[in-house]
Amino acid sequence: MTLQVYGPWAQQFVDLLAKFTGLRLVLNGEAVTVSPDTLLNPFESETLQDLVFEIVANPNVVRIAAFSTAPRPGFFGDWFRAHPADHRPRRTVFVGDLQRADELSSICARGLMGHILREYFGAARPPGQEPGRAFANYHVPAIHTEAEIVSELTGRPIWTGSTRPWEHTYGKINVRSYGPALKYQLVLGANGLARIIEPAGL
Ligand SMILES: [Zn+2]
Repeated sequence: MTLQVYGPWAQQFVDLLAKFTGLRLVLNGEAVTVSPDTLLNPFESETLQDLVFEIVANPNVVRIAAFSTAPRPGFFGDWFRAHPADHRPRRTVFVGDLQRADELSSICARGLMGHILREYFGAARPPGQEPGRAFANYHVPAIHTEAEIVSELTGRPIWTGSTRPWEHTYGKINVRSYGPALKYQLVLGANGLARIIEPAGL
């Protein structure tokens, strides 16, 4: 029982994760569990479902602070590190930003959720130990998990060989390239995500 969520948007985070996985999730205090009577929705990502099961069953602690939206323009989604000036602890997830992403591209939003969870899980440690700080070590596997989720939900292949899934921000556009025909462009406006340009033909 080591997926923990706290903060003003904790229930909204759990509700969104339940929507994205199709799993019945229960928030009891800070602890998230999968209800024993949950059903596996075959139309949601198996990778994302498995990731939730894996985290919940693992002794290492993933502890998430859930808030509404990023308090600074140019940021969205989550903060791995603490931002004391903005009064946000490490592992802050901006649930409203992910809800917005879901409105713009439900598939992209599920990939982003998987990215965040994989990253935090990579840094998770047993109770009483400080979680990992080497962000890049956790970000790289997270982009791969994200790509797998989007690939499952679109039926399009991810990059293979020497090309790996990648993401990069150019000014106000965050590009996430998962495969040869699987590129998303997230356009940041003054109030968070303005639009998501999906791959052609989806
Ligand atoms: Zn990352």
